[in-house]
Amino acid sequence: MKVSQLLVAAALLASANAGAWKVYNDDSYTLTGCNAAMLKSATFCGGGIKTFACACKNQPAMASVMQCLADRTDKDQEVLKEWFVYQCAAVNKTVTVEELDASYENASDYWVDLDHKPAGYNKSAISYRPVKNGNMTKYFTGYIVSYRKRYGTVDRSHYQGMSLLSAWALLLLIATLSNWFTRMSPATLKSMNNSLTRKARQYLGLAPTFRKHHVQSVGFFGYIPTRFESVVILVNFLFLLFCNTIGYSYDQRDLVFTSKMGGISRYIGDNSAVLLSYMTPLVFLFPGRNNFLQWCTGWSYGRFVAFHKWLARLYMCEIIIHSGAMAVTSQAVGKWATRLAVFWYRWGIVASVAGGLMIIGAGYTARRISYEVFLLIHFVLGGIFLAGAWIHCLDQEYEQYYYAAAAVWCFDTLIRFARIAVFGVRTSKVELIANETLKVTVPRPAFWKPYPGAHGFVHFVTPLTFWQSHPFTLVESTVHDQNIHFYIKIKNGITKKLASRIQKSGKGFTNIHVSVEGPYGERNHYEHYNKAVLLAGGNGIPGPFSHAMMLGTRDVEKTEVKLYWSIREYYSLNWFFDELMKLKGTNVQPVIYVSNAQSSLEGVNFDSSSQSSSSSDNEKTDSQEDLKDTSTSQLQKLKETFGFIEFRTGRIDIEKVISEEVAEANGSVAIGVCGHPAMADQARVAVAHAIGENKNRIDYFEEMQTW
Ligand SMILES: Cc1cc2nc3c(=O)[nH]c(=O)nc-3n(C[C@H](O)[C@H](O)[C@H](O)COP(=O)(O)OP(=O)(O)OC[C@H]3O[C@@H](n4cnc5c(N)ncnc54)[C@H](O)[C@@H]3O)c2cc1C
Repeated sequence: MKVSQLLVAAALLASANAGAWKVYNDDSYTLTGCNAAMLKSATFCGGGIKTFACACKNQPAMASVMQCLADRTDKDQEVLKEWFVYQCAAVNKTVTVEELDASYENASDYWVDLDHKPAGYNKSAISYRPVKNGNMTKYFTGYIVSYRKRYGTVDRSHYQGMSLLSAWALLLLIATLSNWFTRMSPATLKSMNNSLTRKARQYLGLAPTFRKHHVQSVGFFGYIPTRFESVVILVNFLFLLFCNTIGYSYDQRDLVFTSKMGGISRYIGDNSAVLLSYMTPLVFLFPGRNNFLQWCTGWSYGRFVAFHKWLARLYMCEIIIHSGAMAVTSQAVGKWATRLAVFWYRWGIVASVAGGLMIIGAGYTARRISYEVFLLIHFVLGGIFLAGAWIHCLDQEYEQYYYAAAAVWCFDTLIRFARIAVFGVRTSKVELIANETLKVTVPRPAFWKPYPGAHGFVHFVTPLTFWQSHPFTLVESTVHDQNIHFYIKIKNGITKKLASRIQKSGKGFTNIHVSVEGPYGERNHYEHYNKAVLLAGGNGIPGPFSHAMMLGTRDVEKTEVKLYWSIREYYSLNWFFDELMKLKGTNVQPVIYVSNAQSSLEGVNFDSSSQSSSSSDNEKTDSQEDLKDTSTSQLQKLKETFGFIEFRTGRIDIEKVISEEVAEANGSVAIGVCGHPAMADQARVAVAHAIGENKNRIDYFEEMQTW
């Protein structure tokens, strides 16, 4: 386990232990019921004290509560006295069992029997004698039914919250065992390949939720989770729905909530508060880049982000339920104005608003317009939410869940900064190649080890861009010079800015200070299979290439390696020229699809390993004759240079390639894909189909992520 992940795990465990769940039970309700009945029957303490403190410091009040306990319950009196001591300690008053007994005994000569009130008795005037009887039974009943309902709901909510966390823990445990089992004993896993497991993997494990979309975005909704992820989210949703709606009833005798509306809304408000408290650490843990669960389960960061998004949406629903229900209760018990005036309630409102803005601002459209701005705002609002919720909950004794969330978040952020500091700021060479790709070459520290499929978040340290960090797959240099490379497709944000900076320089490259946060991502273990089929589209080649190199240059040649790369034009060979040449003489069988059947070889630069000229910059030949000659010689060069690569023209048919490769395989097959989202989605569906059709173990590794 990486040290960074271990630290986050430790932070989570430590924080989870920071606060103990306060257990309410019927003994405590009995005690507080008697206390409330005493407070309602007479006045003992000045200043209108309505808490337990009065019974702890005022002898007649203490004796009245003791009398109530003795009269109205057959519970073990010694246990009730222990609760009495505990409740006094909770309001910073020290009382012993002996003092309670003494107070009760001393009271025997002074009782005021409220069934036979002395003449001139005034309930509102301070009483210096203990009281008994009167409406005590009615009051006690009215309060105890109220406490039983209310705190019974709180108790139940804790069990529900614990069940929810346990279910997640179980799921993560199963995923962890399966991940490590696969790594340590791939043969056993392959043998667990019967028709039942194949069907489960075909229809649940791998399939997209609906027809074929997963990494392709779908309109307003953005990315659709896989079917497995959707089932997990759906079960979570149904469970919360069940908790929020089932098991509420109102007792007409209730003296705390004298209306049904006030009572039921309070129970729902408490239930949602407890449930969302239990969800808080998960919502904050899942999106962390250093989330240790990635290492345990082998699940991608993209999957954890998908769970984070959906859990956060459900979390927001709980916040809305909680806020709405508490507003109704506050109105019903006449406390709306007083609550609005107190600090903790106001901070609750601030947190709710921040949470709502986070959900709205995290919509797919906003992320698409400017991911980095979304991220910055999300971070700031997240901080406001956490602070607001923490302050709100301090008063309610639920703060420990927010300790856990804050600890996880702070550690993740700290580790991210540490990773950047450790890598340092280095001078990179950014080349614009074939007018379509930026090749970034960065010298890495010796101890900083890249691995196949890893990605790093790159900070381009310029005054306008240093605050952004973009994820790119990294490739170890093919010559042993401690450089890493990123191959970046030019899009509309920072990548476009860099490209135009290079174009303006007229040199084909520029030097920029960069820092890299990483490496991140779990490595997929293709070496455990008889055959690895690696499919890449365009700039998706770095990950599959690194895996192919690792497999193809191993001493033990166990795995047959097929590397497919689909590009639109021949000139795209320029930016991956050196790497392709490294495949020569290895165990890798590369196949390159050039999707434009009319693509010309003219722009391909076979002469130099430094491919920094763009296709548009290439000189054009004037006459048809020259053109023909050039084409012939270029074709000759292609054959000479890349004789070890099979070139095919036309669009790659992913389904056909997969079904053919699987059919020709002599044993288990691992299929990895990184490319255009549509390509990955086609591959997912094709592999799911192949799993159902074939007896050999087939696994799919999406070498790309979306979030
Ligand atoms: C794990 C991973 C590895 C990747 N590897 C490569 C690679 O090797 N080569 C490559 O060309 N691209 C890669 N990408 C995609 C790359 O991160 C984006 O294309 C890049 O951030 C776009 O920058 P831009 O400012 O030009 O984007 P824009 O034109 O502003 O946006 C283009 C798209 O990129 C998304 N995007 C922008 N910034 C981020 C960000 N910080 N995090 C996530 N998504 C973002 C936007 O939401 C949008 O969908 C990878 C993405 C991920 C998640």
